[in-house]
Amino acid sequence: MIDGKTAVCAVIGNPVEHTLSPAIHNTLAKQLGMNLTYVPFRVEAQAVGEAVKGAYALNLLGLNVTVPHKGAVIPFLESVDEEAALIGAVNTLVRTEHGYRGYNTDLKGLYRAFLSEGIRLEGERVILLGAGGAARAAAFLCALRGADRIYLLNRSQDRAVQVAEEVNQGAGRECVVPMELSGWRRIPAGSYLAIQGTSVGLSPRTEEAVIEEEDFYRMIHTGFDLVYRPADTKFMRLVRGAGGRAFNGLKMLLYQGVEAFELWNGVKVTEEQAAVCYERMKEELDKCE
Ligand code: NAP
Repeated sequence: MIDGKTAVCAVIGNPVEHTLSPAIHNTLAKQLGMNLTYVPFRVEAQAVGEAVKGAYALNLLGLNVTVPHKGAVIPFLESVDEEAALIGAVNTLVRTEHGYRGYNTDLKGLYRAFLSEGIRLEGERVILLGAGGAARAAAFLCALRGADRIYLLNRSQDRAVQVAEEVNQGAGRECVVPMELSGWRRIPAGSYLAIQGTSVGLSPRTEEAVIEEEDFYRMIHTGFDLVYRPADTKFMRLVRGAGGRAFNGLKMLLYQGVEAFELWNGVKVTEEQAAVCYERMKEELDKCE
């Protein structure tokens, strides 16, 4: 029941019509018995600053920021967390005395998703497909959490080179190797963790994978697709077909939300509570398919 004491959180982005974030936060609020509601707002690019100021004036407790505003929002913040500043993208705003402080929970969310699936990064050799916003966060995560080497493959090689330079500089070591997509043939033989961070395979083009050759998939012991619509992507099927384990990106989305909820409310969400949200998200996804 919404009343005069209801705390309000929101997500701003464009589009936001298919967001699963309300399913995460409203389910958490209910489970924890908190008087909090979470709503989506579609915000045009030129209105990002006004949206942040307006949210603060309306006493919103916190905001999530999604595509395409994760970088654009930064000039309108009171302060930015060190890790978010390093990667240049903010997806969570936390209310402070004079304005919002920006965080990036995508990176921590992906890390918690890896932990929950038993995927380790320390000393690991990684193949990362893509150099867009999501892949960039994954590249920083791998570099900052001790991956041995990260082969970053992207359709536009200049973008791969740029991300590799930024991540290597941020991590203070030369661990990211940029390549074009066909460059996988030059990757040293071995067994790799592969992270699929391109938008290829996303609904409705579910019969596509950014690399189709079976030999590529024989190099992969674990494949993690950041895409979660559909739940079983062509990339995941190819990984499994070659004998590897495969996961989709729904847990990354879940845990970036859990991290944001914890920041806003100063609580710790249990794995049991997170699991209830995960089931709710899957129900929402099933409704869309
Ligand atoms: P983005 O910034 O637009 O980047 C898109 C990436 O896909 C680029 O690397 C792009 O390569 C590549 N790409 C697009 N079409 C391609 C094609 N036909 N062939 C080869 N490469 C192609 O998007 P993003 O924000 O990083 O999101 C990427 C995906 O990650 C989304 O589809 C989304 O489902 C998923 N995601 C998941 C989560 C989560 O919580 N699980 C969070 C964020 C995103 P170029 O550089 O050459 O254009």
